[in-house]
Amino acid sequence: MQTIPSEYLEIDRKARAYAPYRGLSLRPPTERVCDFGDVVFPLDSDRAMQEAARCIHCPDPAPCMLACPCHNDIPSAMWLIEQGRYVEAAHLYRQTSSLPEICSRVCPHEQLCEGSCVLNKTHEPVLCGSLETFVTSYERETAGVAIPVGKPTGKKVALVGAGPASQGCAELLLQQGHSVTFFDSKPAPGGLLVYGIPNFKLAKEVVFYRWSDFEKAGAKFVGNTYIGKDKTVDDLFQEDFDAVFLGVGVGIDAKMEIPGEGLPGVYEATDFLMRGNTDLSLLPENKRERPVIGKRVVVIGGGDTASDCLRTALRLGAEEVTCIYRRTEKEMPGGKKDRQMAKEEGAKFRFLTQPVRFIAGEDGHLAAIECIEMRLGEPDAKGRRKPVPVEGSNFSIAVDTAIKALGYWPDPVIGETTPGLETHDWGLVTVTDRQIGVTTREGVFAGGDVVTGPDLVVTAMVSGRKAALAIDEYLKSK
Ligand SMILES: Cc1cc2nc3c(=O)[nH]c(=O)nc-3n(C[C@H](O)[C@H](O)[C@H](O)COP(=O)(O)OP(=O)(O)OC[C@H]3O[C@@H](n4cnc5c(N)ncnc54)[C@H](O)[C@@H]3O)c2cc1C
Repeated sequence: MQTIPSEYLEIDRKARAYAPYRGLSLRPPTERVCDFGDVVFPLDSDRAMQEAARCIHCPDPAPCMLACPCHNDIPSAMWLIEQGRYVEAAHLYRQTSSLPEICSRVCPHEQLCEGSCVLNKTHEPVLCGSLETFVTSYERETAGVAIPVGKPTGKKVALVGAGPASQGCAELLLQQGHSVTFFDSKPAPGGLLVYGIPNFKLAKEVVFYRWSDFEKAGAKFVGNTYIGKDKTVDDLFQEDFDAVFLGVGVGIDAKMEIPGEGLPGVYEATDFLMRGNTDLSLLPENKRERPVIGKRVVVIGGGDTASDCLRTALRLGAEEVTCIYRRTEKEMPGGKKDRQMAKEEGAKFRFLTQPVRFIAGEDGHLAAIECIEMRLGEPDAKGRRKPVPVEGSNFSIAVDTAIKALGYWPDPVIGETTPGLETHDWGLVTVTDRQIGVTTREGVFAGGDVVTGPDLVVTAMVSGRKAALAIDEYLKSK
């Protein structure tokens, strides 16, 4: 529901629909590729007011609200922003989202709020994401941010994983007065916000500022603790936790199963991005080294992770960076925006190509990749045309570094070590009601990528929030 109903607004919709659009200012590719800083210049107050005043205030429910997985009240926020009421706008976002400063930066807006904006029909969509970034930064700088904490209930919830799903869950549990403790296998909290998404898309300080809100609200963090290995879910119940939320994501890189995969110089995307983008002091002890990349880098895969790897490799100083994908650009699963940025920054693309073997040089390090050409065959079950090898078309590419960005699987260890917890598809946690993350084991709830498979920050966070409501009900019923 919109807080400020559109029928009360006296606005000239036609004039707004054709109001000038100034777009976003980006740093030039030749400059931005030299560092890991933000690519987009933030909006200032004048630009924010002007941009928000382009919103034509569609009747409730507005398409942007429906498309937003949190159902943020975007039209009302736009109304507040155009009047300079930035802190109120930020508060509105915080009613429905636990991580507005993060989602505003990393959501694929062109597929969500901005993609559904009716202005797309005639013009350009309102820059909902950048406006959310502007007001949440303004709020933090001027008014500060605090998570309201409810009257203590004496109930304790263990959150396994400290990524967006668990953070979404924790915020609402804290508001209900429950105490929360995060357990994560990594030294620092944040999940893929810290150990995956590159800095040029999401500066780490944004994640840490938000994390400090959780700490101030009383959340505890236990790092370097792998549930299923260092201790089990049952151990957590033994330690007097009343409920457990599993937000462990899908952290295992898919394998290619071809010869030479283990050669020095062949990286998995997670390892490469984490070591390429994260402060070394925040990495597990055995990972505190930047990836060594040569002049020629090949990234294998067609998703967003592949674009992130291409752009990280360019920033780490590679001279020739090429993406290899076995279908054509049309079938690529990754977003166009990130791919376009990668192209602008100098990445090359080689389509209909499949690696079949990594080849070592005399020193034992990766020196080349043998590939085979592909053609598109019949559509698969999802309607995507299957790549089919072209017999006898093998060829080699000389390369110093290869990065495999092929997708992710869950670690089955929690399912294997938690009696009564059902899993499927190599470790995804089965939920009896996806809306609220109830699992087959009493007192254990789950959300985020470990339930859905690889998805988005915003969807993980929303599923954590929904699970928090179910956990609260459960704790009250105990
Ligand atoms: C390279 C990359 C770039 C991405 N870019 C974007 C983007 O731009 N926009 C977007 O919306 N989404 C993006 N995503 C997807 C997004 O990051 C995920 O969908 C989201 O982080 C999932 O949140 P989560 O909380 O479920 O899991 P995660 O963020 O994966 O967090 C899970 C946490 O659990 C910990 N953990 C795992 N197993 C255990 C265990 N057994 N015990 C203790 N701790 C454990 C992990 O260390 C991790 O810290 C990207 C993903 C990747 C890989």
